[in-house]
Amino acid sequence: MAAPAFAGKLAIVIDDFGYRPQTENQVLALPATLSVAVLPNAPHAREMATKAHNSGHEVLIHLPMAPLSKQPLEKDTLRPEMNSDEIDRIIREAVNNVPFAVGLNNHMGSAMTSNLFGMEKVMQSLSRYNLYFLDSMTIGNSQALRASSGTGVKVIKRKVFLDDTQNEADIRYQFNRAIQLARRNGSAIAIGHPHPSTVRVLQQMIYSLPPDITLVRPSSLLNEPQVDTSTPPKNTQPPRNPFRGVKLCKAKKPPEPVYATRFFTVIGESISQSTLVQYYQHQWQGWNKKD
Ligand SMILES: [Zn+2]
Repeated sequence: MAAPAFAGKLAIVIDDFGYRPQTENQVLALPATLSVAVLPNAPHAREMATKAHNSGHEVLIHLPMAPLSKQPLEKDTLRPEMNSDEIDRIIREAVNNVPFAVGLNNHMGSAMTSNLFGMEKVMQSLSRYNLYFLDSMTIGNSQALRASSGTGVKVIKRKVFLDDTQNEADIRYQFNRAIQLARRNGSAIAIGHPHPSTVRVLQQMIYSLPPDITLVRPSSLLNEPQVDTSTPPKNTQPPRNPFRGVKLCKAKKPPEPVYATRFFTVIGESISQSTLVQYYQHQWQGWNKKD
């Protein structure tokens, strides 16, 4: 069968890897074009990154970055006020802990990625490694793309979160949305997490993609056009927190205080499931569309 002339390219990244080897092994049994992002200080980081690479999956570093809301943080979470040396050290150790990584995406990060100076330090540091930056887009006005200007670091952006809920029907709906966006825009990146319900939906849907949709690695999308969202039309976008690993992902120290310097009113990640926030997410997804 000839490939369709106009195929939508879909990249799927499963992040928060390194804490749940059993579920993560099921992810690694899926097609190798599905990619994974590993938390550098997770207990199984090196093991899972190596396994993923050996089974042909693209590996990203899933780098913890400070959220606006107060919540348990991973060790070495990047904060905007850290100096370049400290950010360099954290990225160097992450590169060391996650072998074979070719890209990096943010874990949480609504406070860090919306801070231009903070992200400029990250991009400077990343430019020393040949790593692309996948913006998880946990906040609407992420400065990542803007901060990358002049550094040579390629930035691509997440379009869909597959599993804001762990309800399989919702995840299937989000998967179909990702397919539609890939078809409409030529490509789309979806991010999911190693939950049993997400794995089940992937197992059901990934082998029966529409013929015009091709599953690709994020690194094959580095030259796709990107929309700069550093100054959105409205300041109403709530931060997002796709991380659901609370049970296994215990904080090693008490949560950091919330920063006084942020300029957004706090709409905590912790309330991301509320009706109000879902309304705003809907609004935001509206302006983010290309057509
Ligand atoms: Zn995460």
